[in-house]
Amino acid sequence: MKACGGYGKFLGAVSVFSILCCAPRADAGESCAVIWTYGISDHPEWCETFKRAGFTALTAPLPKETRDVKWWLEPASLDSTDALLAGAARTQLDVYYQVPLGMMIGTKFGPRTVTAAGFEEPSLPCPLNEFFWNDYLVPVVSAIARKALNHPAVKGVILDTEQYYGKERSGAIDENYCFCDECFGGFLKKSGIEEPLPVASERRLWLDTNRQESSYWKYLEERMTKRAAQMAAVVQAIAPGFQIHFYIFEDAWYYRGLLKGMMVSNQPVFVFDAKTYDGYLNNWAEEAAKKTRELNPLAVWVPGFYTGSLSARALRANVSKATKTQGSYWIYNQIIPIPEAYLGE
Ligand SMILES: [Zn+2]
Repeated sequence: MKACGGYGKFLGAVSVFSILCCAPRADAGESCAVIWTYGISDHPEWCETFKRAGFTALTAPLPKETRDVKWWLEPASLDSTDALLAGAARTQLDVYYQVPLGMMIGTKFGPRTVTAAGFEEPSLPCPLNEFFWNDYLVPVVSAIARKALNHPAVKGVILDTEQYYGKERSGAIDENYCFCDECFGGFLKKSGIEEPLPVASERRLWLDTNRQESSYWKYLEERMTKRAAQMAAVVQAIAPGFQIHFYIFEDAWYYRGLLKGMMVSNQPVFVFDAKTYDGYLNNWAEEAAKKTRELNPLAVWVPGFYTGSLSARALRANVSKATKTQGSYWIYNQIIPIPEAYLGE
C-alpha cells in the first residue's frame, strides 16, 4: 500500500483508510445506459420517455448562469436543476452532473498549459496545476456531492475532460500535454537532472534525445494519480458512495492516473468513450475495456453513440451489441427533442 501512504500527505485530516472502510462497497460489473441530450434542463417531463426507452441515467448540464462565475461558493446555484432532479427521482433515473474541465470558468485557474509544440494555450490551464484542482475542481465536485445529500437521484458527476478552449487543438488530455515550466521543470528536478530548462518548443525533442519520454509520462501519471485520489477521498468524506466518472479515454498519462486515483473511492468509474460515436469499433472496444479494468477493477468502459451520425436503426444495432458485450452504453444527442425513432426498445 505504498501509494496510500503517499496520499496521506495530500489529504491532511482525511484518512484514506477510514474512507475505504466506510464507503459503500460497489459491486464489480456495474452497468449503465445514459442519455446525454440538449434541452433536458428545460424538459424534466422527458424523463418518462427516457425511462421507457431503457435508460438508467441522464446527464445534467450545469445551469447556464454558472458559466463564468464561482457558482460553487453559492449553495443555491444549482436550484434551477431541481425540477429535472425531481423528474429523475420520480422515474428512478440516476443523475450525473456534467463538470467541464476544458471550458467555462474552470479554465481560468492557475498557470497555462503548454503543448508538445511549445504553444502556451491562453485559455487552458495546466491539467495538473494546484489552483485548478484546489480552487476549482475539488470544490465543484464537493458542492455537487453536498447537493446529492438532499437529492438521492444525484449519483455523481461526469468530468468532461475535452479541451474545448484549446487554440492549437481540442480533444483529450493526451501526450500533447503538458510541457509547462512546472511540469517539465518538476520532472528535471525530480530526476536529478541539473540542466537549464529547455525552451518550451524544444522540450518534446529533449525527451526523445535523452530517452526520457516514458519516464516523463510516468512522472505526470503519478502526479495525476495523487490529484485524483485526493479529490476522490475528499468527496467520499462528504457523500460516501458518490461517483466520479469521466468522458473520453485515451491510453495516456492523464487517464491512467485518473483511473488509478479513483480506486480510493471504491466506486465504479464509468469511462464514457466518444471514439464509438459513428458505430462500434471492435478492436478498440476490447482494448479499451481491458485497459480501463486493468487500471481500475471497478472501471466500466461505456461506448457512446451519436444520433447525428447514426440512423435510428444503426443506433439500435449498436446499442444491442454494446448491451450484450459490455453491458453499458450511452447516447449523445443534439436534436431537440430526440426523435421518437431513436427511443424504441
Ligand atoms: Zn503543466
